[in-house]
Amino acid sequence: MNSFTYLFLFFLIASFAVEYWLSARQKNHVLAHRETVPAAFQATIPLETHQKAADYTLAKSTFSDFESVISLLILLCLTLGGVINWFFESWATLQLSPLMTGLGAIGSLFLLMTLLELPASYYQTFVIEEKFGFNKSTQKQFIKDQLLGLALGAAIGLPLLALILWVMDSIGSSWWLWAWAILVSFSLLMSWLFPTVIAPLFNKFTPMEDGALKQRIQTLLERCGFHSEGIFIMDGSKRSGHGNAYFTGLGNHKRIVFFDTLINSLEDEDLEAVLAHELGHFKCKHVIKMLISSSAMSLIGFAVLGWLIHEPWFYEGLGVQQISNAAALLLFMLVSPVFTTFMSPISAYFQRKFEFEADSFAAEHAKASKLISGLVKLYKENANTLTPDPLYSAFHYSHPPAAIRIAHLESKMVS
Ligand SMILES: [Zn+2]
Repeated sequence: MNSFTYLFLFFLIASFAVEYWLSARQKNHVLAHRETVPAAFQATIPLETHQKAADYTLAKSTFSDFESVISLLILLCLTLGGVINWFFESWATLQLSPLMTGLGAIGSLFLLMTLLELPASYYQTFVIEEKFGFNKSTQKQFIKDQLLGLALGAAIGLPLLALILWVMDSIGSSWWLWAWAILVSFSLLMSWLFPTVIAPLFNKFTPMEDGALKQRIQTLLERCGFHSEGIFIMDGSKRSGHGNAYFTGLGNHKRIVFFDTLINSLEDEDLEAVLAHELGHFKCKHVIKMLISSSAMSLIGFAVLGWLIHEPWFYEGLGVQQISNAAALLLFMLVSPVFTTFMSPISAYFQRKFEFEADSFAAEHAKASKLISGLVKLYKENANTLTPDPLYSAFHYSHPPAAIRIAHLESKMVS
């Protein structure tokens, strides 16, 4: 224990308290508006659907409050409780090279944390999602997903970790620049590998059949001067009733992916407008901007770690006596989110700004009225609340609240 311990505890408790307070506000706000559908949606959303969305939001918030308490306790056990120190000590007794000791300690701790998260993930899928009719996954599918996720995490994560630890041990004082360059290259590689190699391990991607919808989409793509490697339909209904559409890949490897659940619930013109919104994200360079800002953030992170790694108080303050590069890296990964919680409203603000820009793009290249009808159907089908607390949504929402987003689209409609 030293002054850094108190600083860590202060940030940990402050961020927990703020999150808890915001969540309580969100629950009160949703509950207070449960009995009436907001005026803007009275023609399109029945009271019953509105109440289901309220109950679903309340159930998820209550569970996530509980999860936050558990995560807080786990982080305290790992650090001040001495669990991390114990793992590093135990691996050190095996007398392996420093790199293997670090790899073993971090790898086994991540395995432990994954196992600790399992019950929450199970409860979310088979209790909450099940209760509201969204879960389509079976227990067998769930186990298969977990094992596949774990195997992939090890196959991809361990070599990457080994490379970074090697750079830390061998390159000298500029290691953090090299480690950062490796991480950025790795994330570029992943954005290429994910759609073509990894996602198909979990889901089936079928090229969209020729027909009216495909024709409509291709016309939209041409109109916007956009090239993609194909339009695919993903069997999202295998696991969940929630619908979505997204783009993956970079450069010439962009793919358009629709969940089958979305195709089934939206009209062709709605889908066209939803896709125009997604195209807007590319055309307004949001993808590149996000990539640059996250690379800049990780550069700052590595620079800070490059300094902390030489400071004994950093280890001692977090309950670790076994000083090593691997221990510093692990502590930094676990603890830095505690100090950056208060930055999340800034990134959420920019994400919402991007959503407005993409909506404006969609209104120009497709019909704003169809994006509105598509969104309303999605709010309905996904049981998203229409009445979030303003402070909660300012802090957490990556998308503007329903009423504000639709008012913005309506202002774009040509009368
Ligand atoms: Zn968007």
